[in-house]
Amino acid sequence: MPAADAPAVTTATSSTAPAATAPEGREPLPLAPAGPGQLVMTAPRRGKPPRHFSDLEPGERAEALAALGEKPFRARQLATQWFERLEDDTERMTDLPAASRQRIADALLPTLLTPLRTLSADRGTTVKTLWKLHDGALVESVLMRYPGRDGAAGRNTVCISSQAGCGMNCPFCATGQAGLTRNLSTAEIVEQVAGAARALARDEVAGGPGRVTNVVFMGMGEALANYKAAVAAVRRLTQPAPDGLGISARGVTMSTVGLVPAMDKFAAEGIPVTLALSLHAPDDELRDELVPVNKRWNVAQALDSAKRYFDATGRRVSIEYALIRDVNDQAWRADRLGKLLNARGRGWVHVNPIPLNPTPGSKWTASDPAVERAFVAALEARGIPTTVRDTRGSEIDGACGQLAAAPEEPRG
Ligand code: SF4
Repeated sequence: MPAADAPAVTTATSSTAPAATAPEGREPLPLAPAGPGQLVMTAPRRGKPPRHFSDLEPGERAEALAALGEKPFRARQLATQWFERLEDDTERMTDLPAASRQRIADALLPTLLTPLRTLSADRGTTVKTLWKLHDGALVESVLMRYPGRDGAAGRNTVCISSQAGCGMNCPFCATGQAGLTRNLSTAEIVEQVAGAARALARDEVAGGPGRVTNVVFMGMGEALANYKAAVAAVRRLTQPAPDGLGISARGVTMSTVGLVPAMDKFAAEGIPVTLALSLHAPDDELRDELVPVNKRWNVAQALDSAKRYFDATGRRVSIEYALIRDVNDQAWRADRLGKLLNARGRGWVHVNPIPLNPTPGSKWTASDPAVERAFVAALEARGIPTTVRDTRGSEIDGACGQLAAAPEEPRG
């Protein structure tokens, strides 16, 4: 993954758990997140989000339209409107019969994400959106625009959430500290990208009209813990229009803390997206602390699985490494990481050290720049391609691990 594609992990001190807000006519749901302070592998069961057109595989759509009394070919018309033209108002879908539009909207295009707040930074080219879901759960996504240089096309990357909260409990991460509320549905994941695609197409984001070129599953949640919905979302994002959003698989990065069985299953799906393994330490002793799931699948097992992913897909794996001052940023750890990676072959991996974004009051902070340079040099000395990622969006808490989905900005 290019260096600047995804934002950095940071600390949690002021995150606030999502508050339950009752949709009209419903009782408030008990949205206290499950399991802050502990590893939670299975999401709590909550009321399912309403079914949405984006949940459906192309083969399921004609049947869904037929159930509404529509001709099967309407499925392709609707897909063209939704995924290709990015139209979200059925009244403007003039190829659909006027009498059918509201019925189709009600049955297949429910509003899944309602924007509660939008914050922008970097002169409007980084935009974080806080979304309210149907049951009041909150998630965030971040759109980051990178202008092209020397005639090259720019990139528009959307960092999306796959769960409301996260059960992985990484101690330096705002999302992890808030615990896991629930899994997102396929459509709730896809619609974060579709929303960004619409905003870009309609010239609503600084930098002129554009399209989404990259998607990173680095917002709230451990995507592979919500395997079925996350993989279906990847398919929907990468299916050529009009079946899906037509984003190149090469532009999509699936991120994981190292759920080894799910990584191996994902490798067998045959979707050539980039896999990013959040390692953060090369030794089990420290990684047990920084990434608690390491006690289930350790460094060697996670790296072996990452290498199998490369072998199966040919896609170079990214190793994400948040550089935390005096915790994991020693050059000897970089050297050890380089050795571990080289022991599994050459040319299969790329390391992205990420300066930890400081959060006021936290004991965790970013490494000294000289220490960061020494860390990179130690990896490069082992021949490991290494790129320090920028911390785009940090000023609006839009970097990975900062997505705490607080209904009010934590910096009060
Ligand atoms: S760093 Fe990622 S996996 Fe860990 S708690 Fe945060 S969101 Fe979850």
